[in-house]
Amino acid sequence: MKKFDYLKPQSLEEVLSLLNQFGTKAKLIGGGTDAIVMQRQNKISPDLFISLRGIPGLDHIEGNGLLKIGAMVTHRAIEQSPLIRERFPLLSEASGLLGSVQIRNVATLGGNLCTASPSAETAPPLLVYEAEVHLISQKGERRIPLESFFLGPGETALEQKEVLKEILLQPPPPNSRGAYLKLGRRKAMDLAVVNVAVLLTLNPKTGICERARIALGAVAPTPIRVREAENIIEGNQLNDELIRKAGEMAKHTCSPISDIRASSEYRREMVGVLVEKAIRQSLT
Ligand SMILES: Cc1cc2nc3c(=O)[nH]c(=O)nc-3n(C[C@H](O)[C@H](O)[C@H](O)COP(=O)(O)OP(=O)(O)OC[C@H]3O[C@@H](n4cnc5c(N)ncnc54)[C@H](O)[C@@H]3O)c2cc1C
Repeated sequence: MKKFDYLKPQSLEEVLSLLNQFGTKAKLIGGGTDAIVMQRQNKISPDLFISLRGIPGLDHIEGNGLLKIGAMVTHRAIEQSPLIRERFPLLSEASGLLGSVQIRNVATLGGNLCTASPSAETAPPLLVYEAEVHLISQKGERRIPLESFFLGPGETALEQKEVLKEILLQPPPPNSRGAYLKLGRRKAMDLAVVNVAVLLTLNPKTGICERARIALGAVAPTPIRVREAENIIEGNQLNDELIRKAGEMAKHTCSPISDIRASSEYRREMVGVLVEKAIRQSLT
């Protein structure tokens, strides 16, 4: 493994200044559960790792209306946060299924999103909650929808000298219920073959589905929303036929590849099955 330097700045200002100084030679590191693996596999070879650990303002979970989650919050903290479990249960479930307890103790939400793996555990739940990401650099700050943050496998809208500061979540409308399903080759320590999040807002009097959000992971170059499937169920009282149609639509909208985990055909079939299942679970 190529030798590298490691710096542990004390403030976000210092991080931004180091990024400015070292440019492409530097790489940020949160928990290191992706970055160090990639370094060992020679997929990245920075001269310098800049640690984000312990930087004030990156590890908060706070907010009454808008919930702000610092990029350095670990999956274990998300899994165990009563606030997130109550208000954004799909995110809580997804973080709780990532890796193992040991991994979750160090791996961060920010790292999961910035790695931009198509199968990123937390991406489908955050997409159905319509999360935004707050980015910061020496040039200023900006907020963009998570959906436009992912550009391709391993590629994000982050600029060279930008840091993901926090993830922002607006509360979903009242009477919203959902489900998160992960299909892996085994129950723990494996990336998703397919992961699906569904969030439905149901009219309590009529039972009509007023709003539907469906997101998929591991079946396209980035995690995706499937609006075509959402449109099939939105505005309707859900029945078996509509649920099946939504599953079929999701199946035909995604563009999975074959890899070591599964064939594209299997992934596509599983999208149909899991979308249907997640819709039904959301209704119970
Ligand atoms: C054994 C094992 C099991 C795993 N299981 C799963 C799984 O089930 N599901 C899953 O989705 N992932 C899994 N992973 C991958 C990994 O643990 C997660 O993606 C994790 O959330 C990465 O977080 P991290 O803090 O360790 O990121 P790091 O490795 O520190 O960083 C990852 C990337 O993000 C960049 N980065 C980190 N933080 C920021 C920031 N704030 N701003 C800008 N850039 C930043 C880094 O430069 C780097 O490119 C697993 C990994 C291992 C080793």
